[in-house]
Amino acid sequence: MFIIPYFRTNTITKMMIKESTYIGSYVREEKCPPPQFPEYAFIGRSNVGKSSLINMVTNKKDLAKVSGTPGKTQTINYFLMDKAWYLVDLPGLGYARISKDKREDWRKMIYYFLRTRPTLQYVFVLLDAMIPPQKSDMAFMNWLGENNIPFVVAYTKTDRVGIIKLPENIKAIQDEILKTWDTLPREFITSAEKHIGRDEILDFILENNKIFGV
Ligand code: GDP
Repeated sequence: MFIIPYFRTNTITKMMIKESTYIGSYVREEKCPPPQFPEYAFIGRSNVGKSSLINMVTNKKDLAKVSGTPGKTQTINYFLMDKAWYLVDLPGLGYARISKDKREDWRKMIYYFLRTRPTLQYVFVLLDAMIPPQKSDMAFMNWLGENNIPFVVAYTKTDRVGIIKLPENIKAIQDEILKTWDTLPREFITSAEKHIGRDEILDFILENNKIFGV
């Protein structure tokens, strides 16, 4: 006789990264580690909360440095997760306190990396949930689209926005995205402070990694 389960719970698995290793920091795509593992790049405007989010996702206090000085990360930083996939921390976009020439150099370096990196799976575009849609973020996502580079969106610092204001802010950003896109990208609501969004992000990455058999 078969025993039919009375109810089936959703399997909520706590995603864990057992081992995260800093591999290195690089100034050009050519110098990056061989394209051996699926890669997920994290990028956003300076001070968006990228380092905090990376630390939260990887469950490490200081894997990516949370800096008081915005825009400190100027290199492509590689972290190997469980010997299976790379988390790539890209330099902050739009750092105002450096020269225009230097900013343009970074932009070129990042864009070249994103266009040519063969193992890049998704770009996580980080958007600050506290502020209105930013032209530079929209332009960046449009550029990703034009170049057929898959991306998802992660809203950061959501704990800092009130329960009524948060959906309003997100809707404002979504409306802006929908001016150019037919559908919204995959979105993640995150808070490094409150540890929100980690499981969803890891679940998404690990699901995608299955394509690679890892
Ligand atoms: P990055 O420059 O994009 O790497 O940003 P950081 O991770 O250094 O964060 C910038 C500032 O925002 C820091 O003061 C962080 O403590 C703060 N911050 C980042 N994420 C969160 C969050 O989820 N909640 C709150 N309340 N503050 C955050």
